[in-house]
Amino acid sequence: MDKLAIVIPCYDEEEVIKITSKALRDLLKELIQKEKIAADSFLLFVDDGSKDRTWDLIEEEHKTFPIQVQGLKLARNVGHQYALTAGILTAKEHCDFMVSIDADLQDDIHAMEEMIDLFHAGNDIVYGVRRERKTDTFFKRVTAQSFYRLLKSMGVNSIYNHADYRLMSRRAAEQFSKYQETNLYLRGMIPLIGYSSEKVYYDRKERVAGKTKYPLKKMLSLAFNGISSFSIKPISMVLNLGVVIIFLSIIAAIYALISYVTGNVEPGWTSLILSIWFLGGLQLLAIGLVGQYIGKIYMEVKHRPRYHIEQVLFSEKSNEESFLQSREREPEYK
Ligand code: UDP
Ligand code: MG
Repeated sequence: MDKLAIVIPCYDEEEVIKITSKALRDLLKELIQKEKIAADSFLLFVDDGSKDRTWDLIEEEHKTFPIQVQGLKLARNVGHQYALTAGILTAKEHCDFMVSIDADLQDDIHAMEEMIDLFHAGNDIVYGVRRERKTDTFFKRVTAQSFYRLLKSMGVNSIYNHADYRLMSRRAAEQFSKYQETNLYLRGMIPLIGYSSEKVYYDRKERVAGKTKYPLKKMLSLAFNGISSFSIKPISMVLNLGVVIIFLSIIAAIYALISYVTGNVEPGWTSLILSIWFLGGLQLLAIGLVGQYIGKIYMEVKHRPRYHIEQVLFSEKSNEESFLQSREREPEYK
């Protein structure tokens, strides 16, 4: 039976820890009874440097339920994406697959069963996708949707309406751990792994308690991070603008010369207008060109893995084989 870890990042969530822990422990119990997960499956609460009683409550839960509730405390607040990464990288050492979910139970925990069925059907990644955004404010809905559109236009491959509610097999987490970049945008990174994936749709609810920990400022910084970590398209846009302006300056040159010949211009106007347009275009072109190299350097310094192996067919035992953790060879957890 496969052992499940549920990874829950928490920042100042004292109002919800007990409620969330109870709801998820009940869910574990139910899934264990249905023989869908191993009996020692567990919750992993990641305390992202909370200033309130979050960690004390996690400790209490761990004492009361030492097998079902585990905790990880980060020394300071580093943000949702980093807390989640800390949780995933820790959990992968102790489980066969994991599901990440927010502490506030806005995501429907009962969608998890379908995710697990899809995992057992052979998928390494299952994305939880919000069916609709009725409970979000109008402002949040519009900003979030324009964000996904913008990302797409910038060439970032992310799943529409999927936040960080997702299932990952241990080997998917293993591949994810190869991404060494510091600026994290998980929703863009996970699809890069390329293992077979599926989607599960659910309705997003209100927070069970407490307030959002994602004010507009954090949302905007997540959006900017998403684009700037995945796309060097803005640089290409500068380059293209340079080309367009140089082209326009040629048209302007023809117009200015005709005006000059027909004689109805101020002295000095022709040379001035030509310099302005042509030099402006040339500067943009040069900046864009330099930018292309900087963009390449940027992509290089990320040291992203260049490929992810999914299966190996070798007659003799090879390095790749031991390197790749195939599900079939994993030990049985009883
Ligand atoms: N969170 C975190 N660190 C932060 C901010 C948020 O770990 O700096 C966690 C938070 O506790 C919650 C999840 O990230 O479990 C999502 O945050 P929230 O529900 O406040 O965001 P919203 O659903 O309003 O976008
Ligand atoms: Mg929330």
